Amino acid sequence: MTAQLIHGKIIAAQIRADIRAIIETKLQQGQKQPGLAVILVGDDPASALYVHHKRTACEEVGIKSFYYPLSKTIPEAELIALIQQLNQDPAVDGILLQAPLPKHINADQLFELIDPKKDVDGFHPYNLGRLAQRRPLLKPCTPYGIMLLLDHIHQHPKGKHAVVVGASNIVGRPMALELLIAGATVTVCHRFTVDLPYFVKQADILIAAAGKAGLIKGEWIKEGAIVIDVGQNRLADGTLTGDVDFEAAKEKAAWITPVPGGVGPMTVAMLLRNTMVAAGYMNM
Ligand code: NAD
Repeated sequence: MTAQLIHGKIIAAQIRADIRAIIETKLQQGQKQPGLAVILVGDDPASALYVHHKRTACEEVGIKSFYYPLSKTIPEAELIALIQQLNQDPAVDGILLQAPLPKHINADQLFELIDPKKDVDGFHPYNLGRLAQRRPLLKPCTPYGIMLLLDHIHQHPKGKHAVVVGASNIVGRPMALELLIAGATVTVCHRFTVDLPYFVKQADILIAAAGKAGLIKGEWIKEGAIVIDVGQNRLADGTLTGDVDFEAAKEKAAWITPVPGGVGPMTVAMLLRNTMVAAGYMNM
C-alpha cells in the first residue's frame, strides 16, 4: 500500500480563503475588522519565524494584527499590565502570547491572565476544562486542525483506536480529548511509556507529537493506518522533518501527512479561525 497524502497546506489555504470572504462581507456590512494581538518576548529565531507566519496569515485574510515585540528582559509586571490592557481593548478579539517565555516570567500565570474569550491559542485552563467536559469554546489550534484534516478525508475517529505519542498541554493532551469526544478509543504514550512500538502497532489513527526526528519506525505502522505527523524537527542541514520515518510509513499507511505541508499550516489556519470565533464572526 502507498498512502494518500493529506495536503494540509491546500486544505488550510481553502480555510483561509473562506475566512477572507467572510471578513470582506462583514466589512462591507460596516462591521469592525477582527483584531489579533501578538506578543513576542525575546529574540528566539524560531519564535520570531512562527510569529511572522501568523501575522502574515492575519494580514492576508483581513484580520488586523497588533504586534508587541518585547525585550527578553521586560519586567513581568509590564507584561501583566499589557495583557490586562489588551483584555479590555475592544479592537482586540484575540491575544496570542508566543511561547517559550524567558525564565524570569511565570508563563502559567501569564497564560491564565488572558481573558478566556480572547484565548485564541486555546491554552487557558478554562478552555481546556471546557474541552475536557465536551463543551468546547476556543480550542487548542493544532489538535483542532488535525480533527479538521480527519474530517476532510472522511475518516471519522468513532470506534477507531487512536494512539497519541506525546502528552504536552498544547498538543498531546488536548488531542487525546478531541479524539475521545469524537468516539475513538484513545491511548496516550509519552516519554515514560515502556514498549512504544507495542502501542503504535495498534493504531488505526496515529498522532506523532513527541518532537523526536525518526522516532516512529515504518515497520511499526499498522497496515491501512492514518498517520498524522505533528513533529517539526530541524536537522543539522536545516531540513525540517517529522517524528515519523515517512518513506517507510507511507508504504503501510492508508493516509499520511507530509512534513512540511501537513499539520503546520492547519495550526495557523485554526488560529485565524479561533480569532473569527472570538470576534463572533464564525461558530466553532
Ligand atoms: P513537548 O516537548 O512539550 O512534548 C513532547 C511530548 O512527547 C512529551 O509529552 C514527552 O513525554 C513525549 N515524548 C518525548 N520523547 C518521547 C519518546 N521517546 N517516546 C514517547 N514520547 C515521547 O513538545 P510539543 O510542544 O507537544 O511539540 C511536539 C512536537 O510537535 C515538536 O516537534 C513541535 O515542534 C511540534 N509542534 C508542531 C506544531 C505544528 O503546527 N505542526 C504545533 C505544535 C508543536
